[in-house]
Amino acid sequence: MLYRDLEAKIREYRPKDDLAPLEKAFRFARQCHEGQMRVSGEPYMVHPVKVAHILADMRMDLVGMQTGLLHDVVEDTSVKLEDVRKQFGDEVARCVDGVTKLGKLDFYSAEDRQAESFRKMLLAMVDDIRVMMVKLADRLHNMRTLGYLNRERRERIGRETIEIYAPIAHRLGMGKLRGELEDLAFQHLEADAFREIVTNIESRRHSNEGFLHEIRQTVEAELRREGIPARLEARIKRPYSVFQKLRRQKIGMDQVYDLMALRIITDSVKNCYAALGVIHNQWRPIPGRIKDFIAIPRPNLYQSLHTSVVGPQGQTFEVQIRTEEMHRIAEEGIAAHWKYKEGRKGPAADDQRIAWLRHLVEWQRDMQDPGEFMSTLKVDLYPEEVYTFTPRGKVIVLPRDATPIDFAYAIHSDVGSTCVGAKVNGRIVPLRSCLRNGDVVEIMTQPGHQPSKDWLAFVKTARARNKIKHLINASERAKAIEIGGKYLDKEARRLGVQLGRITKSEFDAVAGQYGYSKMEDLYAALGYGKYSARQVLAKLAPGVVNEEGEESPPVGAGVPEPAPAGAPSRTAEGDPVVRVRGLDDLLVYRAKCCNPIRGEAIVGYVTRGKGVAVHSCLCPNVQSLMYDVERKIEVEWARAAEDAFPVRIVVHTDDRPGMLNQLTSVLENTNIRSLEAKTALDQDGGIVEMTVDVRDKKQLEKLVAAMRRISGVRDVERLFN
Ligand code: MN
Repeated sequence: MLYRDLEAKIREYRPKDDLAPLEKAFRFARQCHEGQMRVSGEPYMVHPVKVAHILADMRMDLVGMQTGLLHDVVEDTSVKLEDVRKQFGDEVARCVDGVTKLGKLDFYSAEDRQAESFRKMLLAMVDDIRVMMVKLADRLHNMRTLGYLNRERRERIGRETIEIYAPIAHRLGMGKLRGELEDLAFQHLEADAFREIVTNIESRRHSNEGFLHEIRQTVEAELRREGIPARLEARIKRPYSVFQKLRRQKIGMDQVYDLMALRIITDSVKNCYAALGVIHNQWRPIPGRIKDFIAIPRPNLYQSLHTSVVGPQGQTFEVQIRTEEMHRIAEEGIAAHWKYKEGRKGPAADDQRIAWLRHLVEWQRDMQDPGEFMSTLKVDLYPEEVYTFTPRGKVIVLPRDATPIDFAYAIHSDVGSTCVGAKVNGRIVPLRSCLRNGDVVEIMTQPGHQPSKDWLAFVKTARARNKIKHLINASERAKAIEIGGKYLDKEARRLGVQLGRITKSEFDAVAGQYGYSKMEDLYAALGYGKYSARQVLAKLAPGVVNEEGEESPPVGAGVPEPAPAGAPSRTAEGDPVVRVRGLDDLLVYRAKCCNPIRGEAIVGYVTRGKGVAVHSCLCPNVQSLMYDVERKIEVEWARAAEDAFPVRIVVHTDDRPGMLNQLTSVLENTNIRSLEAKTALDQDGGIVEMTVDVRDKKQLEKLVAAMRRISGVRDVERLFN
């Protein structure tokens, strides 16, 4: 019965299509789900058929609707994907497989697994956007019947819907589906707030509808008088959009004035603006609330004019004005392609909404760090965009808090990379400043300029971030190759190896032993300090050099170290108290900026040509260094030797006599390298700075605790540079 309705629905818009393959999918699925029930008590098959109905409403193609009917057979029955392939071909099987896999993704696990889930979802969408359309239809039907599930599952599914699927629907421009998903999820997640808003809307419905009726008649008459053909839709705002407004503006329900909205749908862009004039002629517009998304479409291609005006009795209401075509795009987004472009296989490759996906997929390949990937994705998935302009008036849409650097990269990567300054609205601004709506941005460039590592700390767009990283990595690699080559030459001379006698194939063979395809890669590894030159020479000239023996330091001197202040200085022998897990031969030393002490959490950073710098995890430099995750390396404390670790400590005290004596008595068995007492003028207290030697973290902790017990000591902290 339900299935016949589906056929009838499709017949309406595809009278000539052969629906036999669809019926075959229906029969196949029905047989698979035979005897299965939904939690609601209905036969299971009701669900896939209703999903297909939703897809038919989107005017999906046959493959999409077959997938809708078959989407649960692999997941929930004994049927294998192979069977689906045999019966329905590759395309349907691939889509069913895609939907099955989407259903298994876990978006609420640890960050790295979560990032993995998002990556997989994006890949599935780029591969075939219909997979996501079927998933969204599946989710919509599940949300409509969510009430049958227990509270825990309702919450999980509701949260996933509002945080993941609704934003995706939004990004794909599917306004209607997104709205329904949000309201359904809201109803289950915030039952009380939902009820309160709905009750409130209901209590005002009568007067609101009266008001809307009145407004509508006025507008219709005025538009007719101006000869503007139009169709009007009057509506009361959706509960979830009211809720967001309450939360965003921190106001009560009685302060929401523009619950009501009027939509004017006309025939041309010209008439949209004409209608806006009619509205503003009739009622006073609220300044700052006029938005022209026709001239500047949103990234999901939404177009419309928005304005809020003050009505006859002082009530405010919103008016949206658009053409029929814009209306379809606003309601259906990417799905509109199947609906109105007959004979076309879904959206064109250059569709902005698909292009967005493809870019994300490209970028994610370069992003190793799951945290970074997630934050980039969030900027792109939950866009709060700002509209900025080039001096010639071209619009550049950027995420919120984007900087002139993001702007520069959005214009062209060469503009970004050679950017040396920016003017916003005619004034020079710092490159890290945030752009606002309407800013006119002028980028100043200088040929040959290179992007700065510091930019990574504040750029917002994935595009800028990846271009900057790419250039920095490339130039670092070039330096590393140069250093590596010189390092090997120097050691070769010192150890009496004649490199000139070694053939290219011998070089390549040794590189191969290290897992590199080219000698150049091995030079780079030498330059990064991953191996010692002696090791490599022992392999190149085994008769001349043995692997054991005295090692001279890598040539690193003379190469600028662009790391932040406090970067480690070079030690010849490395530091025997720390070592790199699994790589005993790496040159390791403790960073001077934080001088980590035994027992505390440490992390290594492969410097260029200088081995591994070991920082305390608390070191402020770690944050800025570790953006480059490929160069992060695990290190551990080596054997417990008797070592002394200098630590800088600052003690804040009351300014009273005898304080210093008490402090030094605590330090009785500790070697004090320096100690200085100052009076802090502005805070009527004393400050004592000292450097003492400790064996390990435990001893430091004891020391600090003892100092804190002294009466008059306000605070004790460890200093990093
Ligand atoms: Mn399903």
